[in-house]
Order: sequence, then structure tokens, then C-alpha cells
Amino acid sequence: MMKIFGHKNPDTDTITSAIVLAELQNALGNAATAYRLGNLNKETAFVLDYFQVEAPDLLTEVTEDDTVILVDHNEFAQSVPGIEKATPYMVVDHHRVSGFNSAEPLFFRAEPVGCTATVLYKMYTENKVEIKPSIAGLMASAIVSDTLLFKSPTCTEQDQEVCLKLAQIANIDIESYGLELLKAGTDLSDLSVAELLRIDAKVFTMNGISVEVAQISTVDIGSVMERQGDIEVVINNIITEKSLDLFICVITDVMNSNSQAIVLGNRTDLVETAFATTLENNSAFLPGVVSRKKQIVPPLEKASI
Ligand code: MN
Ligand code: MN
Repeated sequence: MMKIFGHKNPDTDTITSAIVLAELQNALGNAATAYRLGNLNKETAFVLDYFQVEAPDLLTEVTEDDTVILVDHNEFAQSVPGIEKATPYMVVDHHRVSGFNSAEPLFFRAEPVGCTATVLYKMYTENKVEIKPSIAGLMASAIVSDTLLFKSPTCTEQDQEVCLKLAQIANIDIESYGLELLKAGTDLSDLSVAELLRIDAKVFTMNGISVEVAQISTVDIGSVMERQGDIEVVINNIITEKSLDLFICVITDVMNSNSQAIVLGNRTDLVETAFATTLENNSAFLPGVVSRKKQIVPPLEKASI
């Protein structure tokens, strides 16, 4: 039985892509089970509830006896503990390739599109497997989530086209459903600061420099910034715990497509260089920045050389 999972601090694309690809593999006669590497965020919980699909079980580690499929990531730093010992059978992704290696040949499919679900749609089509309405709903949700309803610079024409086809199969109005979905993810009221910083955080190694980028989606940057003091305390603890050189907490207004960053660590100069800005009170406004993958990681990587 193969284990399929996305990245730590799972988002909607990571959870649904594990479910969707498990469904496809099973239809093709390859026994596979979807897993998650952490708690569901509110947006994903909303999606699974809406389409009446059960959440995958939690996976805390893999061993040399496991055959695995990675979706929505390929960097071992973002994957399950023990990943370097397991046998990868397949990777389906839409991120940069970094730090991945395998002892044996494998299926490796990464495309520069806005969402893993867009790649999975092609795989269903190529294999002539029909997409059930609930599965189509999960896939459409992943595209809305990853592309912020087509507004993110990561969104391609393919993502939008595929999403509209999926919405038809799922019988949803993508505009109204999409807004409902994005709003479900921005209810932060009952989350502790530690939880806020874990919702969507990824660690990257950039030319030997260890960087964590946490992203918080909101419709009101100000209400998150009111907690800046507490946020900084927790960030400094994480920096010590993980021996990070830099931590960036990006608070993104998903309606107006802007971000405010809180930046700590001993390499905050990288952020100032990357965005041609000066930090004030450990913070900077990043107009038009919404995508970690396309607008945050590449300029930081460049600044780290
Ligand atoms: Mn993801
Ligand atoms: Mn994704």
C-alpha cells in the first residue's frame, strides 16, 4: 500500500491532491492511501465538509519499508520525518525542485502551473479516468485556494480553464463558492499566535541560509498586526529552536492583494535587499505581493547569493 501525502502545515491543495491522486491510483489498480502531515486549516476543513469527504489520517513518519508519493512539494525539509529512507514512487508538484534525490528511477512530474490539481486533472484525462463530482469539487477548491481565485501571479490560463471545467462537474458557481472558501480560511479569531504562525509555514535552504516563511491570509492586515508583539516573541522562539537565520511572517490581504511582513533573525538584510525596502519596527509593507513561491522565495534566494 503506497502512502500519498503533501507538505507539512498542510493547505487545501496539499490535502485534496493526496486524496485525489489516491483515488486515481486506486482506479488504475495501484493500492494507495492518502495521508496528512498536520492539522487541517479552516479553509480545508470547510472544503472537506462542503463535499462530504473524510479527512485523511495523520502520518508522523515513514521508514525504509514505505513506498511513497509526494504531492504539492518535493523538498525534504517540507516533508515527513524519515522521507530520505522511504522509496519514492512518484512526485506530482508545481514548485521549484530542491534537495530531492532518490536511489531508484521514479515518476516525477512538476509543471510551472498555479496548483497541483491542474496537473492532476491532466493525469486523469491522460488515463481516461472519469472525475466524480466530489473529487472535481476538491480539485476546483485547490485551484481557488492556491491562485486566490485566479488573482495570484502564479495563476496560469490552464489553471483557470481547468478550474471552470471542474466547477461544472462539481456543480458549483466558482465566484460565489470561491469567495466563501477564501473567507473560511481567514477566520483567525480563536487561534493562538503559535497556531497562526503554523497555518502555512515552510522552511527553505537558500545557499546555506535557513529561512522560514510563514504566510497568514486575512481580510484585515491591521487586526493581525495588533498582535505583532506576541508574534515576535513566538518567532524568536522558533528561530532559536530550529537554528534559523531568518524568519519572515507574511500577512496577506487576500481581497486587496497586498502583504505586510514581520521579519526577524540575523539575516533580515536579505529582505531589505530582496524587496528594496527598509524595515521599520521589524516590519515592511510589500505592495502587490501575495505569492511566496513566485514573489518571495526567488528574490530572497537571489539576495542570499
Ligand atoms: Mn501547498
Ligand atoms: Mn499547491
